[in-house]
Amino acid sequence: MLRARTLGIEAEHLIDEMHTEHHQDFSDFDLSFDNFHTTHSSENRDYAELIYRRLRDGKHIEVRTIQQLYDAEKSMFLPDRFVKGQCPNCRAEDQYGDACEVCASTYDATDLIEPRSVVSGSTPVARDSEQYFFKLEHFQPQLQAWIQDQGRVQPEIANKLKEWLDGGLQDWDISRNAPYFGFEIPDAPGKYFYVWLDAPIGYLASHKNLEQRLGEDWSADLTPDSSTEMVHFIGKDIAYFHTLFWPAMLHGAGFRMPSAVYCHGFLTVNGAKMSKSRGTFIKARTYLNHLEPDYLRYYFASKLSANVEDIDLNLDDFVARINSDLVGKLINIASRCAGFISKHHEGQLASSLPDPAAYQQFVEASDTIAELYESREYGKATRAIMALADRANEYIAAEEPWVKIKDPEQAHTVQGICTQGLNYFRVLASFLRPVLPRLGDKADAFFNEHITHWDQCHAPLLAHNINRFQAMLTRIDSKTIEAIKDEAKSDLNAHV
Ligand SMILES: [Zn+2]
Repeated sequence: MLRARTLGIEAEHLIDEMHTEHHQDFSDFDLSFDNFHTTHSSENRDYAELIYRRLRDGKHIEVRTIQQLYDAEKSMFLPDRFVKGQCPNCRAEDQYGDACEVCASTYDATDLIEPRSVVSGSTPVARDSEQYFFKLEHFQPQLQAWIQDQGRVQPEIANKLKEWLDGGLQDWDISRNAPYFGFEIPDAPGKYFYVWLDAPIGYLASHKNLEQRLGEDWSADLTPDSSTEMVHFIGKDIAYFHTLFWPAMLHGAGFRMPSAVYCHGFLTVNGAKMSKSRGTFIKARTYLNHLEPDYLRYYFASKLSANVEDIDLNLDDFVARINSDLVGKLINIASRCAGFISKHHEGQLASSLPDPAAYQQFVEASDTIAELYESREYGKATRAIMALADRANEYIAAEEPWVKIKDPEQAHTVQGICTQGLNYFRVLASFLRPVLPRLGDKADAFFNEHITHWDQCHAPLLAHNINRFQAMLTRIDSKTIEAIKDEAKSDLNAHV
């Protein structure tokens, strides 16, 4: 809202623009959604009002008078982000009214030292204001039980929640004075729902939107006894809203609670917070202007685990990892074998494998790998796949088809070795499909087939015509990384 004001445009317009940009970025990174909805929707307004009314009728909302900063020049109460001053904790200058960016402490805007209004520059005054509070403590027992259920939240988050619960739950201010972007509280003119009340409700709104688009009835998904899974993936900074307020709001309004909430850590670049001046504040679009999404998808997958740790995009390590794992190991299997099949056997694979038992071992790894994906251990999954790629390369290196091909009598042996190698590649490319969908498509084109399920690799591809091999992924040059950093720098300079 502050940004829209600065740019002199409507907040709705800014939201629409961002919505479109985000959707395009996701789609160009090969991330698809059954429904990509917005929290600024009529469905969300309806649900926010419904949940509020049910909480109010259940006596979980309390109206209290508190002090808030008021800009007398502009005749308005100031939202947290409309006021700046010195941090009451570390005295850092120029901090917003809700949290300090230097020492990370949170506080009330009225605690700021030497506050000033961002709108008029005047010194705001404290005035009485009625606000609406959600009685979170009413849900202490339900939250306690929910957290203790196995697999609802990660152990690190469960420990943090236990601290919060043991410390006693505070009432939560769910209202903000106008002007505020969002939904007005139905029975309180001039008061708006705090963004973190209606933001998670957006999940229900999106569910409703898709339900209506498809003409279905999914109301049973939301009842307390529903067996439908409701799983949230979020950043660790918003764990508080998703693991305390959200389940409590749902329960208080007669809806089911989430099946699980999984938190990710933050992403750093070269070991530090993204920095505009160092050229490490890289936007999704800037990356896409230079490289295919598969590279970054692989790198992130190789670093992600089921826990809440931060992950680092180290640009040197990124180049080294992609060049060694994807190009040096994975693609290498296919590129070493394909030429012999097209040159000496008219593109036809052998009619049997020289070592069917070894092939079987590759196929049987699928259970372990599926389990790793399922338990969100993506790093372990990629390592298990790369270990198989090492074995495939060792096989080819030991069989030396490039030596054997010199002896015309060994032509069929070479066809067998290369058929074995290419079938290894086929299995590995399909294991990696969730991470590398484009590589999967290229492998399909190369093998003249369409893989939609891992089970299709149970039987090897034999006596089958394949296409001429074309480089599916190429090495990343460090110059490309420099170009990305340069663009990131100039891009941000132009917009600041
Ligand atoms: Zn501070």
